[in-house]
Amino acid sequence: MNILVGAEAKILLDGSLDISEAILSDIQVLGIAEHSFQGDVSMLVHALGRAFESYRSAEFARVWVHPGLRLLQWQPMSPQFFQEAMRLALEHELYVEINLRYNLPPEPFISFIPSSKAVVGVDAHSVDEVKRLGEIILDLESTIADRSSTRAKRGDYEAR
Ligand SMILES: [Zn+2]
Repeated sequence: MNILVGAEAKILLDGSLDISEAILSDIQVLGIAEHSFQGDVSMLVHALGRAFESYRSAEFARVWVHPGLRLLQWQPMSPQFFQEAMRLALEHELYVEINLRYNLPPEPFISFIPSSKAVVGVDAHSVDEVKRLGEIILDLESTIADRSSTRAKRGDYEAR
């Protein structure tokens, strides 16, 4: 088993992240989280864009964790903002978490995430949760793998 060390950082109003350089130098995975953002929805999308631009050439992988946990609270206009944030995440080559604790992103948006950029997360807070959600992860991973192999096959066909 390969164990990586990561940290979750929240986005501040200006799009910077609430994390120190000392911690950044010790991690292999940076989780970018929007859930305690203080501004309004368009400020959040702007801040996400800034955050997604940062650390692009860093050694650690960058993941948008539990995507939409705050953003999708602004109903009814939040889906269009969410779609824009998803576009920015993929444009800036982030990984996007498919979070099983919160079932995020919502189902219709999962298909936007290329399988090479999808990370399945349990967001577990106990060993029992890891066991319970582990089964779901294995199922989901094989679904995603099937989807990309179907896509590859389709690509082969079109290339001929
Ligand atoms: Zn969180």
